[in-house]
Amino acid sequence: MSFDDFKTIIAKVPPGGGDISFCGMSEPLHNPECMDMMRYAYEKGYNVCLLTTLTGVTAAEMDRIKDIPFAQFVVHIPDAEGNSHFVVDEEYLGVLRYSIDNLQITRFSCHGAPHHAVKGLIASSGIQTSSAEALHNRAGNIADSLLTPIRWKGRITCLIGAGCIEKMSHQHPVVMPDGSVVLCCMDFGLKHVLGNLLTQEWREILHGSEYQRVLKGQIDEAEDILCRTCSLAVSTASLPAMRLKKALSEARSVPPVHRRGSLVELLRGYPRPPELVIVGLGGLFRDQYFPFLWNEVFGAELFVDSNPSLWGRNIPALPPGVVVSPPQELKRLQGIVAVTFMRNHSEISRQLDEWNIPHVNIVDIFNFINIQSASQGCVYE
Ligand code: SF4
Repeated sequence: MSFDDFKTIIAKVPPGGGDISFCGMSEPLHNPECMDMMRYAYEKGYNVCLLTTLTGVTAAEMDRIKDIPFAQFVVHIPDAEGNSHFVVDEEYLGVLRYSIDNLQITRFSCHGAPHHAVKGLIASSGIQTSSAEALHNRAGNIADSLLTPIRWKGRITCLIGAGCIEKMSHQHPVVMPDGSVVLCCMDFGLKHVLGNLLTQEWREILHGSEYQRVLKGQIDEAEDILCRTCSLAVSTASLPAMRLKKALSEARSVPPVHRRGSLVELLRGYPRPPELVIVGLGGLFRDQYFPFLWNEVFGAELFVDSNPSLWGRNIPALPPGVVVSPPQELKRLQGIVAVTFMRNHSEISRQLDEWNIPHVNIVDIFNFINIQSASQGCVYE
């Protein structure tokens, strides 16, 4: 892909809708203009991720991106078993050493134990290394006797992805060098070509027949889609949001004998829409709320964030026509419960306490659901 084509494509993706990841199906740094593209995306305000082998690149080239605070920077390293094929020479080791010392690597990824030539470097870096523990079926694209064929039944969703762009589910579409957009990095067979970002607008692709067919296929088993054979799909019934929905409907019919604090109290009697509001529309909201169906439990109609630059705007993580409201809006409402959709909620929780607005944090809900599932209903004994 040329840098000019990249600029044309990126202009069609609104910042804030998801991360721009340089990865998938090939080594991104083998494109001589990749550094320019990463700098351009970063300077345009996108979160940038890089997944690379660090092969075919020099330390001087890596130096050009050392100031980019990557949302994710994963370095694939050679393994002792020879599952991956690297030329481990002085040039490669020099680039690896330079990148460890000068860039912010998030983690190493290895298809086995680290190769003896890099083992010491990796260990002394203190950076986490993840090792592939099992073969991946790449959504059925790899036929191997060691892999059990997968065939999902019922309603499913995808567990990976950088988040949603205008409510595109949780897939992580890949743009190929000619601008065509495929469903995800599992789609080696190009089964789902959704459109082309050089010739089409993003919205056109989103509403196009192939993407709509994939969405339909996640509900309707009769539709032949890749996700049905993918180990990264999951039954929606097992999502925390759906387990919460089930727990709540069961809890409402059981009289409480023991009450375990305000969280249970709020969840048991939680208001119906529009009395429930969502506070905090950052990355956690973008990646979780619609993609993982929390909307089907909460059904909120009011979405609040403390960032003034978002007030009154429709952001990519929200459905069309819905705008962000300021926190002050909550003060004039009666009988609401706020769900704080963020990890660090101490400041907003203090504010909500001051305004006497009951609130509950999504991480506590998540933990509550997991404990409740694990303890087989002891919360409502
Ligand atoms: S579940 Fe579907 S969209 Fe997600 S990784 Fe698998 S094939 Fe791709």
